[in-house]
Amino acid sequence: MNENLHLTGFSKSELAEFAAQIGEPKYRAKQIFRGLHSRRLLSFEEMTDLPKTFREKLNEIAAASTLRVESRYVSEDGTRRFLMKTHDNFPVETVFIPTENRDTICFSSQSGCPLKCDFCLTAKLGLLRNLTAGEIVEQIIIVLNDVYGVGEETPHGTNLVAMGAGEPFLNFENLTKAIEIMADEEGLFIVPNRITVSTAGIVPKIYEFAKLEKRPHLAISLSAPNDELRDKLMPINKRWKIEELLKAAKEFEKSLRRGERFTFEYVLLGGVNDTDEHARELASLLNSYELNRVKINLIPHNSAEPLEYHPSSWEQVEHFKEILESKGVSAYVRRPRGRDIYAACGQLAAKDTPNLVQILI
Ligand code: SF4
Repeated sequence: MNENLHLTGFSKSELAEFAAQIGEPKYRAKQIFRGLHSRRLLSFEEMTDLPKTFREKLNEIAAASTLRVESRYVSEDGTRRFLMKTHDNFPVETVFIPTENRDTICFSSQSGCPLKCDFCLTAKLGLLRNLTAGEIVEQIIIVLNDVYGVGEETPHGTNLVAMGAGEPFLNFENLTKAIEIMADEEGLFIVPNRITVSTAGIVPKIYEFAKLEKRPHLAISLSAPNDELRDKLMPINKRWKIEELLKAAKEFEKSLRRGERFTFEYVLLGGVNDTDEHARELASLLNSYELNRVKINLIPHNSAEPLEYHPSSWEQVEHFKEILESKGVSAYVRRPRGRDIYAACGQLAAKDTPNLVQILI
């Protein structure tokens, strides 16, 4: 097996080139693409429409799968958390979140993360490495197969959010390539309209993202209404201040399609950024930029040692939301999911939780 030729991360045209290079006809590339992405097979052996000798050859020179699932946890609320390792032993985490009408997969774009958001456990790992396009796509295939069965239909359709470990805009090329591969109608067929990419505020990439022809939705993690506080909570703010971030958001607004909005995420930290005054400051900040097609997701912080923050009380969360709404800002509270298995926002840090329900695959 050659992990460097991870065919799950090859676009159709790259697979065609690969087939030509090894002296195989073009249609073999199509068969491999369908096997990997439509039938969601993660081994060449299972692609029985390919001749046995060809499957053996593929096994020697390439790889269908390079991630291994080390553990899998199931929360009381049905959320599943997958702890995986890359072939060179770096951790990757992916979370499946079921809801009544749709299912969401939260995937990682990096192993660890170089940004040092003070309220996030992943930050403690630092950046281990960028994930390849193949590793991004394979996370989705692994989760879909686990939940629905290999190659089986996904009854509710699946939404994807790039909100796991890592800053997606610092791995822009691999992320956009993975998105393109997943959108193929002869493959997973998860179109960009069902994907949301969340950034901590890599400003130049917001402009670049706005120009993508097939663009997913955007979420920007804000989490503070002024630079002084944001510098402390999200040090990326020292590089790009709130003013630059909101200018980029304003520009991004122009790229929105009919009926589309974009999101600011605001992690509520008890006593730190959740007071009435913060809510008023946040509303007047957003109103001053006349951002009309935006909503705010309020995310009650998920406690995770050794972080010292604690969640806001539910009364304060509701109150914060009411203040925003009274000033004309749409706000929603994101219900925490999978807290008990360290699967919730800001809790992903390759943490093994042996005392919890762990189902080894
Ligand atoms: S919140 Fe996101 S961007 Fe910030 S450190 Fe955690 S994973 Fe990285």
